[in-house]
Amino acid sequence: MMAEDPVQERHRDTPEELAERRAAVRALAREWLDAGRYRPGCDAWLRGHDPDFTRELAKRGWIGITWPRHLGGAYRSHAARLVITEELLRAGAPVAAHWIADRQIGPAILSYGTPKLQQEFLPGIAAGELTFCLGMSEPEAGSDLAAVRTAATRVPGGWRISGRKIWTSHAHESSHAYVLARSERTERKHEGLTEFIVDMRSDGVSVSPIVDLAGRHHFNEMVFDEVFVDDDRVIGTVGEGWSQVTAQLAYERGGPERVLSTYPLLAALVEATRPAAAKRPDGAAAREVGTLVARLAALRRMCWEVARAMDEGRAPVREAAVLKYLGTQFERDVIEAGRQVLDRPPRLAGGGDDEGDEAARLLGEAVLAAPGFSIRGGTSEILLTIIARGETRR
Ligand SMILES: Cc1cc2nc3c(=O)[nH]c(=O)nc-3n(C[C@H](O)[C@H](O)[C@H](O)COP(=O)(O)OP(=O)(O)OC[C@H]3O[C@@H](n4cnc5c(N)ncnc54)[C@H](O)[C@@H]3O)c2cc1C
Repeated sequence: MMAEDPVQERHRDTPEELAERRAAVRALAREWLDAGRYRPGCDAWLRGHDPDFTRELAKRGWIGITWPRHLGGAYRSHAARLVITEELLRAGAPVAAHWIADRQIGPAILSYGTPKLQQEFLPGIAAGELTFCLGMSEPEAGSDLAAVRTAATRVPGGWRISGRKIWTSHAHESSHAYVLARSERTERKHEGLTEFIVDMRSDGVSVSPIVDLAGRHHFNEMVFDEVFVDDDRVIGTVGEGWSQVTAQLAYERGGPERVLSTYPLLAALVEATRPAAAKRPDGAAAREVGTLVARLAALRRMCWEVARAMDEGRAPVREAAVLKYLGTQFERDVIEAGRQVLDRPPRLAGGGDDEGDEAARLLGEAVLAAPGFSIRGGTSEILLTIIARGETRR
Protein backbone atom coordinates (compact mmCIF):
# COMPACT_ATOMS: atom_id res chain seq x y z
CA MET A 1 0.00 0.00 0.00
CA MET A 2 1.02 3.63 0.49
CA ALA A 3 4.72 4.38 0.25
CA GLU A 4 6.11 5.35 3.63
CA ASP A 5 8.58 8.18 3.89
CA PRO A 6 11.90 6.59 4.91
CA VAL A 7 12.68 9.23 7.51
CA GLN A 8 9.42 10.93 8.43
CA GLU A 9 6.17 9.99 10.16
CA ARG A 10 3.01 11.48 8.65
CA HIS A 11 2.28 14.69 10.51
CA ARG A 12 -1.03 14.75 12.39
CA ASP A 13 -2.18 18.34 12.10
CA THR A 14 -3.54 19.91 15.27
CA PRO A 15 -6.75 22.01 15.13
CA GLU A 16 -4.57 25.12 15.52
CA GLU A 17 -2.39 24.14 12.57
CA LEU A 18 -5.46 23.45 10.44
CA ALA A 19 -6.97 26.82 11.38
CA GLU A 20 -3.70 28.56 10.53
CA ARG A 21 -3.49 26.88 7.14
CA ARG A 22 -7.13 27.68 6.40
CA ALA A 23 -6.50 31.33 7.19
CA ALA A 24 -3.42 31.35 4.91
CA VAL A 25 -5.29 29.83 1.93
CA ARG A 26 -8.27 32.12 2.49
CA ALA A 27 -6.03 35.19 2.65
CA LEU A 28 -4.17 34.24 -0.52
CA ALA A 29 -7.41 33.55 -2.42
CA ARG A 30 -8.69 36.96 -1.29
CA GLU A 31 -5.44 38.68 -2.27
CA TRP A 32 -5.43 37.13 -5.75
CA LEU A 33 -9.12 37.94 -6.18
CA ASP A 34 -8.50 41.58 -5.27
CA ALA A 35 -5.55 41.64 -7.68
CA GLY A 36 -7.83 40.42 -10.49
CA ARG A 37 -5.99 37.11 -10.93
CA TYR A 38 -9.23 35.19 -11.25
CA ARG A 39 -12.96 35.62 -11.33
CA PRO A 40 -14.82 33.32 -8.91
CA GLY A 41 -16.63 30.60 -10.78
CA CYS A 42 -19.11 27.81 -10.14
CA ASP A 43 -17.61 24.42 -11.02
CA ALA A 44 -14.16 26.04 -11.26
CA TRP A 45 -12.45 22.84 -10.08
CA LEU A 46 -13.44 21.26 -13.40
CA ARG A 47 -13.67 24.24 -15.74
CA GLY A 48 -11.13 26.75 -14.39
CA HIS A 49 -7.92 25.54 -16.03
CA ASP A 50 -5.04 27.91 -15.23
CA PRO A 51 -1.56 26.30 -15.13
CA ASP A 52 0.05 29.49 -13.77
CA PHE A 53 -2.37 29.52 -10.87
CA THR A 54 -1.58 25.85 -10.25
CA ARG A 55 2.18 26.51 -10.22
CA GLU A 56 1.71 29.34 -7.72
CA LEU A 57 -0.15 27.00 -5.39
CA ALA A 58 2.57 24.39 -5.91
CA LYS A 59 5.27 26.85 -4.83
CA ARG A 60 3.48 27.10 -1.49
CA GLY A 61 3.46 23.33 -1.10
CA TRP A 62 -0.30 23.01 -1.47
CA ILE A 63 -0.34 20.28 -4.11
CA GLY A 64 0.45 16.72 -3.03
CA ILE A 65 0.61 17.89 0.56
CA THR A 66 -0.19 14.40 1.93
CA TRP A 67 2.64 12.70 0.03
CA PRO A 68 6.01 11.86 1.56
CA ARG A 69 8.65 14.57 1.53
CA HIS A 70 11.07 12.68 -0.69
CA LEU A 71 8.32 12.62 -3.33
CA GLY A 72 7.58 16.34 -3.29
CA GLY A 73 4.95 16.37 -0.53
CA ALA A 74 4.90 17.55 3.06
CA TYR A 75 3.56 14.30 4.57
CA ARG A 76 0.64 16.12 6.13
CA SER A 77 -2.77 14.67 6.94
CA HIS A 78 -5.74 14.47 4.55
CA ALA A 79 -7.38 16.92 6.94
CA ALA A 80 -4.68 19.44 5.90
CA ARG A 81 -5.49 18.81 2.24
CA LEU A 82 -9.21 19.19 2.94
CA VAL A 83 -8.63 22.61 4.49
CA ILE A 84 -6.85 23.73 1.29
CA THR A 85 -9.38 22.27 -1.13
CA GLU A 86 -12.36 23.63 0.82
CA GLU A 87 -10.96 27.14 0.76
CA LEU A 88 -10.07 27.08 -2.93
CA LEU A 89 -13.52 25.74 -3.82
CA ARG A 90 -15.13 28.31 -1.57
CA ALA A 91 -13.26 31.01 -3.46
CA GLY A 92 -14.31 29.55 -6.84
CA ALA A 93 -10.62 29.62 -7.85
CA PRO A 94 -9.35 28.06 -11.12
CA VAL A 95 -7.77 24.83 -9.87
CA ALA A 96 -8.65 22.36 -12.64
CA ALA A 97 -5.09 22.04 -13.98
CA HIS A 98 -3.89 20.03 -10.97
CA TRP A 99 -7.14 18.77 -9.49
CA ILE A 100 -7.22 15.26 -10.96
CA ALA A 101 -3.53 14.53 -10.36
CA ASP A 102 -3.59 15.87 -6.80
CA ARG A 103 -6.86 14.12 -5.94
CA GLN A 104 -6.51 10.66 -7.40
CA ILE A 105 -3.64 9.97 -9.81
CA GLY A 106 -0.94 10.94 -7.31
CA PRO A 107 -2.54 8.77 -4.59
CA ALA A 108 -2.92 5.88 -7.08
CA ILE A 109 0.78 6.08 -7.99
CA LEU A 110 1.65 6.32 -4.32
CA SER A 111 -0.45 3.28 -3.45
CA TYR A 112 0.52 1.00 -6.31
CA GLY A 113 3.40 2.48 -8.32
CA THR A 114 7.00 1.31 -8.14
CA PRO A 115 9.49 3.61 -6.36
CA LYS A 116 10.78 4.55 -9.83
CA LEU A 117 7.33 5.53 -11.06
CA GLN A 118 6.70 7.49 -7.87
CA GLN A 119 9.95 9.38 -8.26
CA GLU A 120 9.26 10.05 -11.90
CA PHE A 121 5.80 11.56 -11.40
CA LEU A 122 4.99 12.69 -7.88
CA PRO A 123 7.51 15.54 -7.51
CA GLY A 124 6.48 16.86 -10.95
CA ILE A 125 2.79 16.81 -10.01
CA ALA A 126 3.52 18.50 -6.68
CA ALA A 127 5.47 21.20 -8.56
CA GLY A 128 2.47 21.81 -10.85
CA GLU A 129 4.51 20.78 -13.90
CA LEU A 130 2.89 17.44 -14.75
CA THR A 131 -0.86 17.44 -15.29
CA PHE A 132 -3.18 14.49 -15.82
CA CYS A 133 -6.44 13.70 -17.54
CA LEU A 134 -8.55 10.69 -16.78
CA GLY A 135 -8.97 8.07 -19.48
CA MET A 136 -11.62 5.83 -18.00
CA SER A 137 -14.93 6.26 -19.89
CA GLU A 138 -15.50 4.83 -23.35
CA PRO A 139 -18.52 5.00 -25.66
CA GLU A 140 -19.86 1.67 -24.30
CA ALA A 141 -18.21 1.80 -20.90
CA GLY A 142 -19.23 4.62 -18.55
CA SER A 143 -21.31 3.34 -15.66
CA ASP A 144 -20.14 -0.14 -16.57
CA LEU A 145 -16.47 0.79 -16.40
CA ALA A 146 -15.34 -2.84 -16.35
CA ALA A 147 -16.58 -3.09 -19.96
CA VAL A 148 -13.63 -1.02 -21.27
CA ARG A 149 -12.39 -2.29 -24.62
CA THR A 150 -9.26 -0.19 -25.11
CA ALA A 151 -6.71 -2.93 -25.60
CA ALA A 152 -3.17 -3.22 -24.26
CA THR A 153 -1.09 -5.80 -26.11
CA ARG A 154 2.27 -7.05 -24.85
CA VAL A 155 5.30 -6.19 -26.99
CA PRO A 156 9.02 -6.31 -26.15
CA GLY A 157 9.75 -3.75 -23.41
CA GLY A 158 6.17 -2.69 -22.92
CA TRP A 159 2.70 -2.49 -24.41
CA ARG A 160 0.84 -1.20 -27.46
CA ILE A 161 -2.42 0.53 -26.58
CA SER A 162 -5.28 0.96 -29.05
CA GLY A 163 -8.77 2.24 -28.38
CA ARG A 164 -11.00 5.20 -27.75
CA LYS A 165 -11.78 7.20 -24.62
CA ILE A 166 -14.57 9.74 -24.35
CA TRP A 167 -15.61 12.69 -22.16
CA THR A 168 -11.98 13.19 -21.15
CA SER A 169 -11.81 16.52 -19.33
CA HIS A 170 -8.78 18.64 -20.31
CA ALA A 171 -7.08 15.95 -22.39
CA HIS A 172 -5.99 18.73 -24.78
CA GLU A 173 -4.22 20.56 -21.93
CA SER A 174 -2.68 17.70 -19.96
CA SER A 175 0.87 16.38 -20.12
CA HIS A 176 -0.21 12.78 -19.31
CA ALA A 177 -3.24 10.54 -19.32
CA TYR A 178 -4.24 7.84 -16.88
CA VAL A 179 -5.60 5.01 -19.05
CA LEU A 180 -7.56 1.96 -17.93
CA ALA A 181 -7.14 -0.75 -20.58
CA ARG A 182 -7.85 -4.42 -21.12
CA SER A 183 -4.58 -6.33 -21.03
CA GLU A 184 -6.17 -9.77 -21.16
CA ARG A 185 -9.43 -11.17 -22.50
CA THR A 186 -11.11 -13.29 -19.86
CA GLU A 187 -14.59 -14.62 -19.14
CA ARG A 188 -14.92 -12.26 -16.19
CA LYS A 189 -14.89 -8.61 -17.21
CA HIS A 190 -13.48 -7.38 -13.89
CA GLU A 191 -10.34 -9.36 -14.52
CA GLY A 192 -7.60 -8.59 -17.03
CA LEU A 193 -7.63 -4.80 -16.66
CA THR A 194 -4.44 -2.77 -16.22
CA GLU A 195 -3.72 0.87 -15.39
CA PHE A 196 -1.21 2.83 -17.53
CA ILE A 197 0.32 6.27 -17.70
CA VAL A 198 0.48 7.59 -21.26
CA ASP A 199 2.54 10.59 -22.30
CA MET A 200 0.19 12.76 -24.36
CA ARG A 201 3.04 13.57 -26.79
CA SER A 202 3.43 9.89 -27.75
CA ASP A 203 3.06 8.86 -31.38
CA GLY A 204 -0.44 7.55 -32.03
CA VAL A 205 -2.30 9.74 -29.50
CA SER A 206 -4.92 12.04 -30.98
CA VAL A 207 -7.33 14.30 -29.16
CA SER A 208 -10.44 15.93 -30.60
CA PRO A 209 -12.75 18.36 -28.82
CA ILE A 210 -16.29 17.65 -27.69
CA VAL A 211 -18.02 20.99 -27.22
CA ASP A 212 -20.53 21.15 -24.37
CA LEU A 213 -24.00 22.72 -24.41
CA ALA A 214 -22.56 26.11 -23.43
CA GLY A 215 -20.28 26.02 -26.47
CA ARG A 216 -17.19 25.45 -24.32
CA HIS A 217 -14.42 22.98 -24.87
CA HIS A 218 -13.27 21.02 -21.86
CA PHE A 219 -14.36 17.51 -22.90
CA ASN A 220 -12.48 15.48 -25.48
CA GLU A 221 -12.33 12.21 -27.29
CA MET A 222 -8.91 10.52 -27.14
CA VAL A 223 -7.91 7.93 -29.70
CA PHE A 224 -4.92 5.64 -29.13
CA ASP A 225 -3.53 4.01 -32.22
CA GLU A 226 -0.86 1.43 -31.34
CA VAL A 227 0.64 3.77 -28.76
CA PHE A 228 3.79 2.31 -27.22
CA VAL A 229 3.88 2.44 -23.42
CA ASP A 230 6.95 1.34 -21.53
CA ASP A 231 6.64 -1.41 -18.91
CA ASP A 232 7.72 1.16 -16.33
CA ARG A 233 4.53 3.11 -16.97
CA VAL A 234 2.22 0.40 -15.64
CA ILE A 235 0.61 1.44 -12.35
CA GLY A 236 0.66 -1.51 -9.96
CA THR A 237 -0.02 -5.08 -11.00
CA VAL A 238 -0.91 -6.18 -14.53
CA GLY A 239 -4.46 -7.55 -14.51
CA GLU A 240 -5.37 -5.99 -11.14
CA GLY A 241 -6.67 -2.74 -12.60
CA TRP A 242 -10.22 -3.24 -11.34
CA SER A 243 -9.45 -3.45 -7.62
CA GLN A 244 -6.95 -0.61 -7.98
CA VAL A 245 -9.36 1.70 -9.81
CA THR A 246 -12.12 1.01 -7.27
CA ALA A 247 -9.92 2.52 -4.57
CA GLN A 248 -9.11 5.46 -6.84
CA LEU A 249 -12.83 6.15 -7.39
CA ALA A 250 -13.25 6.66 -3.63
CA TYR A 251 -10.74 9.51 -3.89
CA GLU A 252 -12.59 10.82 -6.95
CA ARG A 253 -16.00 10.81 -5.27
CA GLY A 254 -15.20 11.57 -1.67
CA GLY A 255 -13.97 15.17 -1.89
CA PRO A 256 -15.62 18.49 -1.03
CA GLU A 257 -15.91 19.36 -4.75
CA ARG A 258 -18.99 17.10 -4.76
CA VAL A 259 -20.63 19.59 -2.40
CA LEU A 260 -19.02 22.94 -3.14
CA SER A 261 -19.25 23.28 -6.96
CA THR A 262 -22.00 25.86 -6.46
CA TYR A 263 -20.65 27.45 -3.29
CA PRO A 264 -19.94 30.88 -4.90
CA LEU A 265 -23.62 31.00 -5.89
CA LEU A 266 -24.74 29.98 -2.40
CA ALA A 267 -22.58 32.74 -0.90
CA ALA A 268 -24.22 35.23 -3.28
CA LEU A 269 -27.66 34.01 -2.15
CA VAL A 270 -26.72 34.46 1.49
CA GLU A 271 -25.73 38.05 0.68
CA ALA A 272 -28.91 38.65 -1.32
CA THR A 273 -31.15 37.52 1.54
CA ARG A 274 -29.46 39.48 4.31
CA PRO A 275 -32.13 41.85 5.70
CA ALA A 276 -29.83 44.84 5.13
CA ALA A 277 -29.17 43.86 1.48
CA ALA A 278 -32.65 42.82 0.40
CA LYS A 279 -34.79 45.55 -1.14
CA ARG A 280 -37.85 43.79 0.24
CA PRO A 281 -36.84 41.36 3.04
CA ASP A 282 -38.26 37.96 2.18
CA GLY A 283 -38.54 35.60 5.15
CA ALA A 284 -39.34 32.56 2.99
CA ALA A 285 -36.23 33.10 0.82
CA ALA A 286 -34.04 33.59 3.88
CA ARG A 287 -35.40 30.35 5.37
CA GLU A 288 -34.69 28.46 2.18
CA VAL A 289 -31.13 29.71 2.00
CA GLY A 290 -30.70 29.06 5.74
CA THR A 291 -31.81 25.46 5.23
CA LEU A 292 -29.17 25.05 2.52
CA VAL A 293 -26.49 26.44 4.81
CA ALA A 294 -27.50 23.92 7.49
CA ARG A 295 -27.39 21.07 4.96
CA LEU A 296 -23.95 22.25 3.88
CA ALA A 297 -22.74 21.99 7.48
CA ALA A 298 -23.88 18.35 7.61
CA LEU A 299 -22.24 17.53 4.27
CA ARG A 300 -18.98 19.15 5.36
CA ARG A 301 -18.93 16.84 8.35
CA MET A 302 -19.15 13.93 5.94
CA CYS A 303 -16.18 15.31 3.98
CA TRP A 304 -14.23 15.35 7.22
CA GLU A 305 -15.21 11.74 7.94
CA VAL A 306 -13.92 10.72 4.50
CA ALA A 307 -10.64 12.59 5.09
CA ARG A 308 -10.30 10.87 8.47
CA ALA A 309 -10.80 7.45 6.85
CA MET A 310 -8.05 8.27 4.34
CA ASP A 311 -5.76 9.32 7.19
CA GLU A 312 -6.42 5.89 8.69
CA GLY A 313 -5.26 4.32 5.40
CA ARG A 314 -8.71 3.20 4.24
CA ALA A 315 -10.27 3.82 0.81
CA PRO A 316 -13.76 4.86 1.95
CA VAL A 317 -15.68 3.49 -1.03
CA ARG A 318 -19.17 3.49 0.52
CA GLU A 319 -18.79 6.77 2.44
CA ALA A 320 -17.58 8.50 -0.73
CA ALA A 321 -20.59 7.18 -2.67
CA VAL A 322 -22.98 8.51 -0.01
CA LEU A 323 -21.22 11.89 0.00
CA LYS A 324 -21.37 12.26 -3.77
CA TYR A 325 -25.01 11.15 -3.96
CA LEU A 326 -26.15 13.65 -1.33
CA GLY A 327 -23.68 16.34 -2.37
CA THR A 328 -24.80 16.56 -5.98
CA GLN A 329 -28.46 16.77 -4.89
CA PHE A 330 -27.47 19.63 -2.63
CA GLU A 331 -25.64 21.42 -5.46
CA ARG A 332 -28.74 21.22 -7.63
CA ASP A 333 -30.94 22.51 -4.81
CA VAL A 334 -28.64 25.54 -4.50
CA ILE A 335 -29.39 26.28 -8.16
CA GLU A 336 -33.15 25.92 -7.64
CA ALA A 337 -32.94 28.31 -4.70
CA GLY A 338 -30.92 30.66 -6.92
CA ARG A 339 -33.68 30.75 -9.51
CA GLN A 340 -36.29 31.59 -6.92
CA VAL A 341 -34.35 33.95 -4.70
CA LEU A 342 -32.72 35.99 -7.46
CA ASP A 343 -35.94 36.13 -9.46
CA ARG A 344 -34.13 37.12 -12.65
CA PRO A 345 -32.75 35.12 -15.54
CA PRO A 346 -29.34 33.47 -15.32
CA ARG A 347 -26.67 35.27 -17.32
CA LEU A 348 -23.85 33.81 -19.35
CA ALA A 349 -20.31 35.03 -18.85
CA GLY A 350 -18.74 36.39 -22.00
CA GLY A 351 -22.15 37.38 -23.33
CA GLY A 352 -21.30 41.02 -22.77
CA ASP A 353 -24.21 41.52 -20.38
CA ASP A 354 -22.82 39.96 -17.23
CA GLU A 355 -21.01 42.94 -15.73
CA GLY A 356 -22.32 44.10 -12.41
CA ASP A 357 -24.63 41.19 -11.69
CA GLU A 358 -22.33 38.58 -10.22
CA ALA A 359 -25.14 36.55 -8.68
CA ALA A 360 -26.94 36.13 -12.03
CA ARG A 361 -23.63 35.29 -13.70
CA LEU A 362 -22.88 32.60 -11.10
CA LEU A 363 -26.39 31.23 -11.54
CA GLY A 364 -25.78 31.05 -15.30
CA GLU A 365 -22.54 29.11 -14.82
CA ALA A 366 -24.15 26.75 -12.34
CA VAL A 367 -27.19 26.07 -14.55
CA LEU A 368 -24.94 25.13 -17.47
CA ALA A 369 -22.74 22.87 -15.35
CA ALA A 370 -25.61 21.19 -13.46
CA PRO A 371 -26.46 18.40 -15.92
CA GLY A 372 -23.03 16.91 -15.28
CA PHE A 373 -23.16 16.96 -11.48
CA SER A 374 -24.94 13.65 -10.99
CA ILE A 375 -23.26 11.99 -14.02
CA ARG A 376 -19.52 12.61 -13.71
CA GLY A 377 -17.59 10.40 -11.36
CA GLY A 378 -20.43 7.83 -11.35
CA THR A 379 -24.14 8.46 -11.84
CA SER A 380 -26.54 8.61 -8.90
CA GLU A 381 -28.07 5.25 -9.85
CA ILE A 382 -24.66 3.60 -9.73
CA LEU A 383 -23.88 5.24 -6.39
CA LEU A 384 -27.16 3.95 -4.95
CA THR A 385 -26.16 0.46 -6.03
CA ILE A 386 -22.80 0.78 -4.26
CA ILE A 387 -24.47 2.13 -1.13
CA ALA A 388 -27.10 -0.63 -1.10
CA ARG A 389 -24.48 -3.35 -1.58
CA GLY A 390 -22.43 -1.84 1.23
CA GLU A 391 -25.44 -1.92 3.54
CA THR A 392 -26.48 -5.47 2.74
CA ARG A 393 -22.93 -6.79 3.22
CA ARG A 394 -22.48 -5.32 6.68
C1 LIG B 1 -18.75 16.97 -16.57
C2 LIG B 1 -18.24 15.57 -16.85
C3 LIG B 1 -16.87 15.32 -16.84
C4 LIG B 1 -16.40 14.03 -17.14
N1 LIG B 1 -15.05 13.82 -17.19
C5 LIG B 1 -14.58 12.58 -17.44
C6 LIG B 1 -13.17 12.35 -17.52
O1 LIG B 1 -12.37 13.27 -17.38
N2 LIG B 1 -12.75 11.08 -17.77
C7 LIG B 1 -13.60 10.04 -17.94
O2 LIG B 1 -13.14 8.92 -18.12
N3 LIG B 1 -14.96 10.23 -17.90
C8 LIG B 1 -15.45 11.48 -17.67
N4 LIG B 1 -16.82 11.70 -17.66
C9 LIG B 1 -17.71 10.60 -18.01
C10 LIG B 1 -18.52 10.04 -16.86
O3 LIG B 1 -17.74 9.37 -15.92
C11 LIG B 1 -19.60 9.13 -17.48
O4 LIG B 1 -20.42 9.96 -18.26
C12 LIG B 1 -20.43 8.42 -16.44
O5 LIG B 1 -19.68 7.44 -15.81
C13 LIG B 1 -21.70 7.80 -17.04
O6 LIG B 1 -21.37 6.98 -18.12
P1 LIG B 1 -22.16 7.08 -19.53
O7 LIG B 1 -22.12 8.55 -19.94
O8 LIG B 1 -21.59 6.07 -20.44
O9 LIG B 1 -23.66 6.77 -19.19
P2 LIG B 1 -24.34 5.32 -19.16
O10 LIG B 1 -23.47 4.40 -18.40
O11 LIG B 1 -24.71 4.96 -20.54
O12 LIG B 1 -25.64 5.60 -18.31
C14 LIG B 1 -26.82 6.20 -18.88
C15 LIG B 1 -27.92 6.17 -17.83
O13 LIG B 1 -28.21 4.81 -17.47
C16 LIG B 1 -28.09 4.63 -16.08
N5 LIG B 1 -27.53 3.31 -15.78
C17 LIG B 1 -26.48 2.73 -16.39
N6 LIG B 1 -26.21 1.52 -15.83
C18 LIG B 1 -27.10 1.37 -14.83
C19 LIG B 1 -27.33 0.34 -13.87
N7 LIG B 1 -26.58 -0.76 -13.82
N8 LIG B 1 -28.34 0.52 -12.97
C20 LIG B 1 -29.10 1.64 -13.00
N9 LIG B 1 -28.94 2.64 -13.90
C21 LIG B 1 -27.95 2.50 -14.79
C22 LIG B 1 -27.15 5.70 -15.61
O14 LIG B 1 -27.34 6.03 -14.24
C23 LIG B 1 -27.52 6.87 -16.52
O15 LIG B 1 -28.62 7.55 -16.01
C24 LIG B 1 -17.31 12.98 -17.39
C25 LIG B 1 -18.69 13.24 -17.38
C26 LIG B 1 -19.15 14.52 -17.13
C27 LIG B 1 -20.64 14.76 -17.15
